[in-house]
Amino acid sequence: MRPTRQLFAVALLLLTGVGLATAGDATRTDAAGDRARQFDALYKRLDDTELWSLATHQVEQRLQDLERLLPPGDARRGRQARALRCNWGFDRDPKGQLAAAEAGLREARAAGDIDAQVRFLFCRGGAREEIDTPLSAKADYDAAIALAGKIEDERLVADGLVASGGMQSLLGQQGHAIRDFLVAQRLYEKTGHPIDAESNLLNLAIAYRRLGDTDRALDYFQQSAAYAERIGDWGGLGSTLMQQGYLYEDTGRASDAVALYERALEISRKQSDPYGVASAHLAMAYPAILKGDYSRALGLLDRAQAEFKAVGDQSNQDMIGLRRGQALAGLGHHAQALAQYQRSAAAVERNGNLRYQAMLYQARARSEEALGQLDGALSDLKRYIAVDRTIDSTNRAQQAEVLRFQFDSARRDTENRRLLAEKALRDSQFDTLLEARRWQWTAIALGSLLVALLVGLVMRQFARARNLHMLASTDPLTGVANRRHIERFGAQAVAQARARSLPLTIVTFDIDHFKQVNDAHGHLVGDQVLIRLAHACQGVLRHGDLLGRTGGEEFLVVLPDTRLDQALPIAQRLRAASTGLDLTDVPGQGPVTISLGLTELRAEDDLGTLLGRVDRALYRAKSAGRDRIEVEA
Ligand code: GH3
Ligand code: MG
Ligand code: MG
Repeated sequence: MRPTRQLFAVALLLLTGVGLATAGDATRTDAAGDRARQFDALYKRLDDTELWSLATHQVEQRLQDLERLLPPGDARRGRQARALRCNWGFDRDPKGQLAAAEAGLREARAAGDIDAQVRFLFCRGGAREEIDTPLSAKADYDAAIALAGKIEDERLVADGLVASGGMQSLLGQQGHAIRDFLVAQRLYEKTGHPIDAESNLLNLAIAYRRLGDTDRALDYFQQSAAYAERIGDWGGLGSTLMQQGYLYEDTGRASDAVALYERALEISRKQSDPYGVASAHLAMAYPAILKGDYSRALGLLDRAQAEFKAVGDQSNQDMIGLRRGQALAGLGHHAQALAQYQRSAAAVERNGNLRYQAMLYQARARSEEALGQLDGALSDLKRYIAVDRTIDSTNRAQQAEVLRFQFDSARRDTENRRLLAEKALRDSQFDTLLEARRWQWTAIALGSLLVALLVGLVMRQFARARNLHMLASTDPLTGVANRRHIERFGAQAVAQARARSLPLTIVTFDIDHFKQVNDAHGHLVGDQVLIRLAHACQGVLRHGDLLGRTGGEEFLVVLPDTRLDQALPIAQRLRAASTGLDLTDVPGQGPVTISLGLTELRAEDDLGTLLGRVDRALYRAKSAGRDRIEVEA
C-alpha cells in the first residue's frame, strides 16, 4: 500500500513539473502550431487542385508562399514542400529536377517517409522521361505505385497510374495506358478528387486518339476542354485544343485542326507560355503541308525551332526535322528533305514512337524514289509496311484489351451493383428484424410491467386482507388473540380433539387485585402491566398453543393435544411469568400475581361446558386466596 502511494506521489510531482515546463513554452508552441496549420492548409490546396490551373510564374509564387510558411526545423513538412517544388517547379529544367528528385529520395528513404518517397519517385520519373526516353521512367512509376499502395493512399496510386499511363501511351501502349487512366479515374472519383478526375479526361482522350478510337477520343476532348474552360485552366485548355487538333489531322479535317491550333496559340501567347507558342507553330506546319502551302510550313517550322531553342527544349527536334523534310519534298528539294529525315531518324527510332517511324519511312521512301534511289526506297517502304502492320496489330490487340477491360469493368460494376443491392436488402431485412425485436422487447416490457402491477395489486389486496383479518382477530392493546379468535380456535381445537381422540386442556387466568394497580398508578400503567404480562405469558407457551385475551384482565390459553398433567407445568410457568414481571420502573408496585383455572376436555364436552368448568376452577382459585392454580376435573 505504502510504496504504491509513494509512486503515485512521484508521478504526480513529475506531471506537475512537465505541466509547468509546458506552460512556459505555450506561446511559442502556439505560434509554431499556427504556422504549421497554415502550411498544411496551403499545401493541401496546392496539392489538391490549385497548381493545375496556374501559369509557370504563378506556380513559382505559390511555391514560395508555401516555403515561407514552413515551420523551422520541421523535416517532414520540408520534404512536402520540396517534393511539391520537385514536381511542379522545374519547368523545362529536367536536369535540375532530376538532381532535386535524387536528393529528396535519399532524404525520404532515410526518414522512412513513404509519402515523400512516392512523390520524389514521380518527380524523378518525370525528369527521366524528358532527359532520356519515356520507358526509363517506368521503374520509378511502378515503384511509386507499389509504395502508395502500401500506405493505402489511393489518390497517390491514381497519380502513379496517370504518370505510368501517360508514359505507356507515348510508347504506343494505349491498351495499358487506357486501363491505367480508367482505374485512376475511378480512384479519383472514389477518394473525392473531382479535379484530378477531370484532368485525367485529357489523358483518356489522347490515348483513345492514339488508339484510333476517334469517337471516344473526341468525346473526352470535348469534356476536357469544357472542364478546363470552366475552372480557368488555360494551360490545360491549350493542351486539349492541340491534341484535339491532332485528332482532326488524323481524320483528314486539316482546316478544323488549324482553327484549334490558332486558338491554342492565342491562349499560349496570353499566358506568356513560349513552349505552348512553339508547339502551336510546329503543329500548324502539317496542315500547311497537306494544303501544299510548303513555304508557309517552312516559315512556321523555323519559328518553332527558334522558339523551342529559346526555352531549351530538344525533344521536338525529330518532329521538326520530319516536317521540314516533308515541306522540302513538297517543294521538290528531295536531297535536302533526305538530309532532314536522316537527322531525325536516329531520334525517331530511339524514341520508339511507331506512328512517327511510319511517317518517316513513308516520306523518306517518296524522296528516295524521286531521287532514283530505288533500293533505299524499297527498304523504306518495306519498313513502312512492317511498322504499319505492327501499329495495326498492336492497335487491334490493344482495342481488344480495352474492350475486355471495359467489359470487365462493366461486369464488375454490375457485380458491385448486385452486391450493393443484396447488402441493401440484407440491411433492410436486418432493420426489420431489429424493429420486430424492438417491438417484442417493448411488448415484453409492457407485459412484465402489467404483471408486476397486477402482482403488486394482488399482494396489496392480500396484505390488506391479512391485515383486516389480523385486526379482526387480534387484541389491539396486547397483540394476543382477541376473544372472538381464541373462542373460535378453542371450538376448532375441541372438534379436532374429539375427531381424532386427542387430549385437550384449557387454562384461564385473571390478574389478582388489578383494580388496585389502576387505582394506585393510573390506567396507563395498568395498560403497561397488561401488555407486559401478555408478552411474558406468550413466551412460556409452546408452538401450537394459543393465548387470547377474553376480557379486561382475563386470559384464556388453549393447549391442543395436551393432557392435564402436561398442562400443569405450563400453568406453573404462566404463574411464574406473572410474578417475574419486571415492574421496577413503576415505583411502589410489587409483583403482580394471577389466579389460574385448568380443565381437560371430556368426551361429552363442547366448548361451552369446557369454558364453564374452567371458570369454576378460576373462581375456586380466587376464593381460595388467589395466586394459585385450581383444577376442575
Ligand atoms: P380480583 O380479580 O383479584 O378479584 O380483583 P380485581 O381488582 O382484579 O377485580 P376485578 O377483576 O373485578 O376488576 C377488574 C378491574 O380491571 C377493573 C378495571 O379497573 C380493570 N381493568 C379492566 N380492563 C382494563 C384495561 O383494559 N386496562 C386497565 N388499566 N384496567 C382494566
Ligand atoms: Mg382481577
Ligand atoms: Mg377480572
